[in-house]
Amino acid sequence: MIVPSAEQRRAIQQIDTYGSHNYHPLPVVVERGEGAWLVDIDQNRYLDFLSAYSAVNFGHAHPTLVKVATEQLGKLAITSRAVYSNTYGPFIQSLADLCGKEMVLPMNTGVEAVESSLKLARKWGYEVKGVPEDQAHIIVMEGNFHGRTISVISFSDDDVATTSYGPFTPGFTKVPFGDLVAMEAAITDHTVAVLVEPIQGEAGIITPPAGYLVGVRELTQRYDVLMIADEIQSGLARCGATFACDLEGVVPDLYLLGKALGGGILPVSAVVGNADILGVLRPGQHGSTFGGNPLGAAVGTAVVELLNTGEFQQRSRELGAYLRTRLDELIGQGVTAVRNSGLWAGVDIDPSLGPARGICERLLQRGVIAKDTHGSTIRLAPTLVITEQELDQALEALVEALDA
Ligand SMILES: *Cc1c(COP(=O)(O)O)cnc(C)c1O
Repeated sequence: MIVPSAEQRRAIQQIDTYGSHNYHPLPVVVERGEGAWLVDIDQNRYLDFLSAYSAVNFGHAHPTLVKVATEQLGKLAITSRAVYSNTYGPFIQSLADLCGKEMVLPMNTGVEAVESSLKLARKWGYEVKGVPEDQAHIIVMEGNFHGRTISVISFSDDDVATTSYGPFTPGFTKVPFGDLVAMEAAITDHTVAVLVEPIQGEAGIITPPAGYLVGVRELTQRYDVLMIADEIQSGLARCGATFACDLEGVVPDLYLLGKALGGGILPVSAVVGNADILGVLRPGQHGSTFGGNPLGAAVGTAVVELLNTGEFQQRSRELGAYLRTRLDELIGQGVTAVRNSGLWAGVDIDPSLGPARGICERLLQRGVIAKDTHGSTIRLAPTLVITEQELDQALEALVEALDA
């Protein structure tokens, strides 16, 4: 069992004293990452089953990504888009190709990509669809998670994320995730977009009923509404395909990407779509000082190259199936239900064992870093470089943590 040293406890105390308390971290102070592993300041090693909420899909310190970033860092990191940079073109062309789309709007964090897509959808609605000014309406899902800005939490139904932050941004209607009848009923002449996570990650890796995304695509096409897929956590190989939408053969109008797009090195996000939508933006109408910066673009290009090999999608698919089989064996042994898509699993813990947080703390003592979500679910999202043997090691730790 790993017990934190006095030095580690002091470091935690410093952070808890001077840092805002908007997170509840596991009691570990890490200093290094190597592939599927994190190392704390006492040199204890942990399998990383959080992967920074899928920002680290390709593993910590992926050699190619570190090399590209280091070389670019010594040449040019930030310009702002007041000038063209030589790494920006290859990045957006390769990303557009990966998505089968025509244009890219680069941003930094995931929520900026979400916000940007909402602005784009409204502007498209007024200028292309012909919705009367200030009447644009966007449909979102119950249980959604799209980030933390005021507009984005305006359509959250998580009390913890919304309490005391009003007044909220109008123009959104929530419908149940997975319910096409409710979605169709909510569509009006003023509806410009449906914003959906193909799989709801923060909600506990909730997969919609089979055929749902196909249904969303059909409805949005029939009513001339944009389908915006938030693939910030589900995309870029996490689900065993490049995009979770691929699992149903669906192509949305806009892909929202983030997290792993920065290779686990820096924040890089993007809205990707065709010119009939992204083309509504003219100079000065939207922007970001850091969006599309030369360093992020160089890393992003290398990320797209990794994805183009298909290796990570395959690993996630194959090891995900293995993980699922092993997790299913735990049902009735402290686990009540398991859901997964590739190497992304939600494990519901029997409430009689107490909150999932306690299991995560026991996992930490056994060398596995995983986080709970919504009280009773543990989210398992190892890096996609993990081996079958390392998965077995983590599963043994899970069995022990459930028994303890
Ligand atoms: C993490 C996440 C976001 C927000 O990304 P940030 O980089 O934290 O702003 C948006 N949507 C989904 C589905 C996410 O998982």
